Amino acid sequence: MSDDCIFCSIVAGDIPGRIVAETDAALAFLDANPMSRGHTLVIPKTHRQRVADLSTEESRAVFDLVHDLAPRIEAAVGADAHTIGVNDGPDAGQEVPHAHVHVIPRFEGDGGGP
Ligand code: ADP
Repeated sequence: MSDDCIFCSIVAGDIPGRIVAETDAALAFLDANPMSRGHTLVIPKTHRQRVADLSTEESRAVFDLVHDLAPRIEAAVGADAHTIGVNDGPDAGQEVPHAHVHVIPRFEGDGGGP
């Protein structure tokens, strides 16, 4: 846990998050500024800044949850596709320094990727 990390605060329950799913090592919650309906973030519960900082087990836990959730989110919002991506590092546009995978439902004719 990092004291000044907003995603750690969601993991700890100190600030509200719209939780979608959770496992021992990973948490999924709705993005506060969604790029589309159902836009979900999947994070390691342990504070890790970059993808390369994740242990093998943490990486597996995060991507297992992405793998499990993607079809369920598609079914929930009526999408047939997703953009799944990571902004890994500030120069790539990572604003929250706690590694997270964007799972962004895509809809026919929605105008292209993020
Ligand atoms: P970017 O904002 O450029 O996508 P990131 O890849 O770091 O940068 O994504 C951070 C994401 O976290 C953004 O999509 C933002 O809307 C989301 N976010 C920030 N604060 C919260 C919060 N408290 N609850 C849910 N989502 C949040």
